[in-house]
Amino acid sequence: MNADRLTECPRCGSDACYSQEINDKITNHMCYGCGFQSNSLMKSNEEFLNEQIETLPELYKDLIYEDEEGKSWLPSTINLPKQGMVFANGSKVENWKWAAVKSIEVTEEEKEKYPIPNKKDQYYEHRMDMSTMKMFDERDFMEALSYIGVLP
Ligand SMILES: [Zn+2]
Repeated sequence: MNADRLTECPRCGSDACYSQEINDKITNHMCYGCGFQSNSLMKSNEEFLNEQIETLPELYKDLIYEDEEGKSWLPSTINLPKQGMVFANGSKVENWKWAAVKSIEVTEEEKEKYPIPNKKDQYYEHRMDMSTMKMFDERDFMEALSYIGVLP
């Protein structure tokens, strides 16, 4: 099965939407133009979608976009412990932006502050450095990824 291809994003119209067939029922979509993602299970009334939505921050719920096929698109959350994270940030739909935060290595002196839950004497090697947080406009999702080093 070969299955990765670029398609047009129904939400923003860019052709930087990366579609990946997982199996004959599930295809994931990730648009690098607007940073939103969807998959073929994310249709209204599908239990899978409702379960996912329940755990989301309010802003993410408000930003859900439903395309013509009835698929729901959500803002991506990138969380890479060694590199950083990118997430939708803001108080409302009109003023949200992507927030990008770089991760840094935890030093020997501070490691006690970052224990791994339920693991004795084990500590995280990286932590998010909130002082590096930078905001990007919706269309600059790829720049946000570059900022944390995911894209060149
Ligand atoms: Zn898009």
